[in-house]
Amino acid sequence: MTEVLEKQAERGTQLGRVSHWIGGETVAGESGRSGPVYNPAKGVQTKEVDFASVEEIDRAVQVAKDTFAKWRQVSLSKRQELFFAIRELVHQRKDEIAAILTEEHGKVFSDAQGEVQRGLEVVEYACGIPTLLKGDFSEQASTGIDVYSIRQPLGVVAGITPFNFPAMVPMWMWAPAIACGNTFVLKPSEKDPSAANFTAQLLKDAGLPDGVFNVVHGDKVAVDAILEHPDVSAVSFVGSTPIARYIYETGTKRGKRVQALGGAKNHMIVLPDADIDMAADAAVSAAYGSAGERCMAISHVVAVGDAGDKLVEAIKERLPKIKVGDGMEPDVEMGPLVTREHRDKVASYLESGPEQGATLVADGRDSSPDGDGFFLGVSLLDNVTPEMDAYKDEIFGPVLGISRVDTYDEAVRMVNENPYGNGTAIFTRDGGVARRFEFDVQAGMVGINVPIPVPVAYYSFGGWKQSLFGDRHIYGPEGIDFYTRGKVVTSRWPDPATSKIDLGFPQTR
Ligand code: NAD
Repeated sequence: MTEVLEKQAERGTQLGRVSHWIGGETVAGESGRSGPVYNPAKGVQTKEVDFASVEEIDRAVQVAKDTFAKWRQVSLSKRQELFFAIRELVHQRKDEIAAILTEEHGKVFSDAQGEVQRGLEVVEYACGIPTLLKGDFSEQASTGIDVYSIRQPLGVVAGITPFNFPAMVPMWMWAPAIACGNTFVLKPSEKDPSAANFTAQLLKDAGLPDGVFNVVHGDKVAVDAILEHPDVSAVSFVGSTPIARYIYETGTKRGKRVQALGGAKNHMIVLPDADIDMAADAAVSAAYGSAGERCMAISHVVAVGDAGDKLVEAIKERLPKIKVGDGMEPDVEMGPLVTREHRDKVASYLESGPEQGATLVADGRDSSPDGDGFFLGVSLLDNVTPEMDAYKDEIFGPVLGISRVDTYDEAVRMVNENPYGNGTAIFTRDGGVARRFEFDVQAGMVGINVPIPVPVAYYSFGGWKQSLFGDRHIYGPEGIDFYTRGKVVTSRWPDPATSKIDLGFPQTR
């Protein structure tokens, strides 16, 4: 892939250029519109990414449409063989992908490796496609009649992805979509676009036919062109809640199948009987990992009863030890935010929080590394209440909020009254309360003494309420369901001699 970037860089500018990938090759953008890509740890622009026009989106969809007719004919065994090859190549080149993620997103290298690994697990799941697409068969449903169900691909499907997981979230989409027999058009985040082109080259090298996987870069113009395109059958989206709602409403109005995963405010409840050191380690890891730019980050802790003071103290004493810096340096644990604007927005909650009554226990502005990087150190706001902006907004940065409540019931009410419902966790030693929590809580992914309960690849990922628009979660069995349509066949091979006219409603008995 470095060749892809180098070729792009050779085109005359000092900045690397990231272009589209259509029909198995790099296609330079011709819209005249483009956007900057930064190395957030250094605070400098490193590349320029082409933004697709409506015509360029149409070209990618047309190629995917033409390829679909051939791709859906490819046998399940061949698709399985290809997916094993893809799995091997992604595995071999994992560190190169991770380095791209660290350079453009800022997350530390070990975290980037973890991202690729979790995405790879969805590719491994897709290797089982012959089993996953097995239908049902009922022999002798009526006399001499058999009934069976099959699942068929939709056609051209599109994925629109966020900046925070530039490799893993696209893998959640393209792996099941392509394995099911669809062709794919990916519109990655314009903030860290290069991993998509690297993936495209890997898929080609693994033997995937040209045109099955295409990448178009861009902004709202490209997204709207995908949503408007009559030949796009389905759209998977992952990103913020306002855009997820827009994608869902616009796409479904055009008759498309849409799954749109949105933002989150993931609460972790800590009960008085919890192991406070374990809860503090979990809260710190889940709040500040990837600088809080994870949709499953714990951004809010609800401390019940006398857990509060002990927990805040335990978290506070852990914070100065977290090493913040360039994610390529081996001992660094937390990198920068993705852009300067986002860093400044996140830092604004360290002003508004205390103004609205919260206690600023740790101020990341004081512990940010020097230099031009988009850094903000780890920050802690205590005594946060639901009316405060620091509670109402997702923040999506290294700012952990803490609320104090007296009872388990109050804590669960707080989680359930929050408009988001992505992930949540409870820390306790009481199995009965944990079970009650799992029953009561309104969220799609629940952790019991597990702070980031991202489901393994053979379950499906998705939230409730404003964290998901649509009715199918992503990857796992629901992903297979999303990317296929069911058909039921009723079949009879009668002796022509027994044929007669019968205008009555068909009977089975
Ligand atoms: P975003 O919504 O700004 O962007 C996501 C995608 O939408 C990008 O490809 C972007 O180009 C496109 N887009 C942006 N504005 C648009 C507009 N006005 N019209 C059409 N398309 C537009 O999200 P982001 O900042 O890249 O990612 C962070 C967000 O994603 C957070 O809210 C996070 O919680 C969420 N997220 C959710 C999940 C989940 O599984 N629920 C996973 C990862 C990230």
